[in-house]
Amino acid sequence: MADLGHLPEDWERALVVVAHPDDIEYGIAMAVARWTTAGKDVAYLLATRGEAGIDGMDPSEAGPLREVEERESAAVVGVDVVEFLDHHDGVVEYGLPLRREIAAAIRRHRPDVVLTINHELTFGGNMLNMADHRHVGLATLDAARDAGNRWIFTDLLDDGLEPWNGVQWVGISATTSPTHGVDVTGYLDAGVASLEAHRAYIEGFGQEFDARGMLEGFAREAGSRLGCELAVALQVVGSDLERSGVPTPAGNPAASVSDSPWPLLRGTPGLGGGSRRRRRSWRRQATAGPRLFAPSPTATPPPWLHRATRRPRS
Ligand SMILES: [Zn+2]
Repeated sequence: MADLGHLPEDWERALVVVAHPDDIEYGIAMAVARWTTAGKDVAYLLATRGEAGIDGMDPSEAGPLREVEERESAAVVGVDVVEFLDHHDGVVEYGLPLRREIAAAIRRHRPDVVLTINHELTFGGNMLNMADHRHVGLATLDAARDAGNRWIFTDLLDDGLEPWNGVQWVGISATTSPTHGVDVTGYLDAGVASLEAHRAYIEGFGQEFDARGMLEGFAREAGSRLGCELAVALQVVGSDLERSGVPTPAGNPAASVSDSPWPLLRGTPGLGGGSRRRRRSWRRQATAGPRLFAPSPTATPPPWLHRATRRPRS
């Protein structure tokens, strides 16, 4: 049943903020390929270099190697701006310093939309999410608002970083509660190539890894929910999609954006902007629908569950 709405694409600049090299390639790289093909400008910001992600390789070697692999992954889908914050893999802390750094990046890049990774406890079912993902995802959501308020992180003004209120919405990948989808039919090859660019990381699994089968499986399931062959699913928050003419998907209350927990950030005069109607109606919505990442009895656990648990083949 098609219960996801088509993600609006009436924007020009996106900033993708994640914790590790490979987070984007498991999630939204196919959508990024579609967007850059259409001429949109996409930049990546990673909190870490993923140096703790290969059990058989010392972090001092893995970090620089994985940075190179991430830049190759990005180039495959048309992204040449890849920035790294200097947090350590596995021990990223949620807090004001992280929010400040991401807010600074948002003010520098001035994106129309921001994308990040699932910040929930699980990927669905009992599949525990990683602390780094939770902390970076939540900090990104917060920073999208912080970036627009000149009285938060005032030292950023000293660096010439004026408030940026232009973020229309934040899209969350690998979420248990998707509301929208991007039709990526025709972009599977780019997504596979982007994931397979993480050669050292994949070799570190020490077993065969079917990147194509995994990405295609996720994309087909999302496609069935969007009404196309292949899709990337996202939970979108902070948007005003009704006003942009996008129909609210039937049967998915999470997509009822007039009740978004966030104000519309674009064009609002600082914190707490948005229409009176929206201010009155801010309240959290229950979410519904089948889970994108629900484990099936036959599914191989995704690599992010057992990263750093196997030595690479010698
Ligand atoms: Zn990760």
